[in-house]
Amino acid sequence: MTMQRRSFLKKAGIGLAAGAVAAPAIAQTASLPTVSWRLASSFPKSLDTIFGGAEAIAKRVSAASGGKFTIRVFAAGEIVPAFSVHTAVQNATVECAHTAPYYFFGTDPTFAFACAIPFGLNARQQNAWMYHGGGLELMRDFFKDYNIINFPAGNTGAQMGGWFRKEIKTVADLKGLKMRIGGTAGAVLEKMGVVPQQIPGGDIYPSLEKGTIDAAEWVGPYDDEKLGFYKVAKFYHYPGWWEGGPELDLFVNMKAWEALPPEYKAILEAACYEANSDMLAKYDALNPAALKRLVANGVQLKPFSNEIMAACYKTAQEVYSDFAAKNAKFKKVYDSWTRFRAEQIQWFSISENRFDNFMTATQRISQAAPAKGAPAKAAAKDAAKK
Ligand code: CA
Repeated sequence: MTMQRRSFLKKAGIGLAAGAVAAPAIAQTASLPTVSWRLASSFPKSLDTIFGGAEAIAKRVSAASGGKFTIRVFAAGEIVPAFSVHTAVQNATVECAHTAPYYFFGTDPTFAFACAIPFGLNARQQNAWMYHGGGLELMRDFFKDYNIINFPAGNTGAQMGGWFRKEIKTVADLKGLKMRIGGTAGAVLEKMGVVPQQIPGGDIYPSLEKGTIDAAEWVGPYDDEKLGFYKVAKFYHYPGWWEGGPELDLFVNMKAWEALPPEYKAILEAACYEANSDMLAKYDALNPAALKRLVANGVQLKPFSNEIMAACYKTAQEVYSDFAAKNAKFKKVYDSWTRFRAEQIQWFSISENRFDNFMTATQRISQAAPAKGAPAKAAAKDAAKK
């Protein structure tokens, strides 16, 4: 403590007691080690949303540690290919990675529960399962076998179904379709006749442009516009029933995690919570304007038919039963997850859905006839008709 500060404390009447409390706190911070990590992202630099999630974590960790704990973020392919980041973390080639866990579904389909599986949870329900429904414990138990501890660290919200050169009207239209689609959804669509391709985000556009693939899904309007898919495929189907609320994770090498002082553990954990909610807010705020621009550019917005959705739902259940029969790890998580999903859907169907549906109807009517006054009354009428 400097002389100046000591005399200030005396003058202020605080005396030595306060000084004695302050001094060790300063000494403790000074004794924290300098830690430099490398992070391999599965995403391209051009996407400020999903790639930006890792940058936001690095920025917060550095700021909160006074610049002593730094994480250098590398885009997909810079030091590790997009779909190899799990092994890079497992083998301590890098300390951590920011990724969509379902990319590693070929290694074990259980990975996908830390991200999304078809007809799964929306973003709110995914967070509820992870943080307060036993999901994080189950997934961390699974990730232990890979020397990885995972942290929810981003969510895109419900995704779009993607870009198609030809409109998909019936289940038969799926046959022979070469489509870029990742994770468990590929296994479901494969049974429907699709030829799924797992291609990193940054490499999708050239494949679609060249015609190597007929269709591609990525995330939603804001990202998809940036990647330029509308220039080579005009039909934009929705919803992405395979990704109702996909989570992104920070994978951290277990030894690197255990070596961190508790202060840095707390900082990193908080930075991941922050990234998890901030990414979703960013997507929700940016998607509406991007969708308007896409439609203005001639994009044909088309819902998947109920027939297609129902057939895919049925196939998904078969795929899950098959996985559960063969894979005890999958079954353990699936059983808990299925119970949780059923309760969530029931709960959301009461207040949340009624509220959302009413607001959607109100908005539709007020946009169609802005001069006719009381939109709420019109919406009530519209809802009563159904
Ligand atoms: Ca996607």
